[in-house]
Amino acid sequence: MKPSPILLPGRTLGILGGGQLGRMTAREAKRAGYRVAVYTNEPHGSPAGQIADLEVNAAYFDDEARELFLREVDVITMEFENLPGDLLASFETTKPVRPGRVALETCQNREKEKLFLRKSGVPHADFRVVKNAEELAAAIAELGTPCVLKTADFGYDGKGQQKLTGGEDPVVVWKKLAAPRGVLEQWVTFEKEISIVAARALDGSFAAFPACENEHFRHILDLTISPARIAPGITAEATAIAGKIASALDYTGTLAVEFFLTNEGTLTVNEIAPRPHNSGHHTLDSCCSNQFEQQLRAVSGLPLADPRQHSPAVMVNLLGDLWPAPDQAPDWTPVLRHPRARLHLYGKRRAIPGRKMGHFTVLGDTIAQALADARQLQAALRAVPVD
Ligand code: AMP
Repeated sequence: MKPSPILLPGRTLGILGGGQLGRMTAREAKRAGYRVAVYTNEPHGSPAGQIADLEVNAAYFDDEARELFLREVDVITMEFENLPGDLLASFETTKPVRPGRVALETCQNREKEKLFLRKSGVPHADFRVVKNAEELAAAIAELGTPCVLKTADFGYDGKGQQKLTGGEDPVVVWKKLAAPRGVLEQWVTFEKEISIVAARALDGSFAAFPACENEHFRHILDLTISPARIAPGITAEATAIAGKIASALDYTGTLAVEFFLTNEGTLTVNEIAPRPHNSGHHTLDSCCSNQFEQQLRAVSGLPLADPRQHSPAVMVNLLGDLWPAPDQAPDWTPVLRHPRARLHLYGKRRAIPGRKMGHFTVLGDTIAQALADARQLQAALRAVPVD
């Protein structure tokens, strides 16, 4: 097969999706002299669209819009995984789509993802795919409790997860799921949640950022600590697993693998994100390269950059809950006054509780220092009254 040409600055990166991950990818591309075209079904002025040379705002199956986008771009990537496979198939006949459709389709559906992990010999929580209450009852009996029922399809706007501790009525639980297929998973008692953000180039080379440690609040990432406070052997093992996953998916681009680290020191993969990941945002400020640059390099056919981290870092998410009113931002003074804190805002016009509006990263000489400063800034932002 002919080697794919390298796309150099001056060429156009196409991004599907208009959110903050697309924005930060677009920013890296613009910095390096690429053109950027964003295709989003959001209205004009999306976070990524604000940075792009061209923003196409249309339904994803709008023929005219797709043709315009395809004419403009040299390579297509995406900033979220829930894109219809048919759409990617229609794009990839004309332009390279990276990461490819198979990787996307595997990771956008929990059932497919779990089956992939099982087939690839990657450690994961034991699970059963269930399609009705009877199958659910049988699966609960097999796996035991506690266990957790999730919708098979991430994109399905179901009722979320249900933790089962024993004694629940499978008929009621199944009805509440409100989805055609479910995945019942064994419950993992974990000490920490960690992630590996890494990239795989077109030639198969692989580079991972240090493992990071993630703390969630109400199921949304609240804070990332990097590097993770774990034994070097665990980091090496998690990195090797991420590399194995990337190879098995024949992946091109940045990806993240989320793990549970159990009290016994074993790793279990929870989820794969086929894109840059929230837990990798600190790389913008703390590493020699960053996860968005790696995405750009990988999809352009360039070699990957050095993923080494130069300073311990803590990243704090800024959710809409912090905004005193939907169009009134908090007073950022505490963050802006800190000499080693960096504020990143995503250009979203209205704050909604739970919506990711931005983040800040604090560097420190030690993790303990960065963490203490980050917590102090987080508390200060919550406390500062706005005139
Ligand atoms: P998910 O939507 O699968 O990423 O799960 C969201 C969160 O729920 C995870 O970050 C965990 O904190 C928790 N969780 C999900 N699955 C399990 C499991 N099998 N065992 C323990 N906790 C889980």
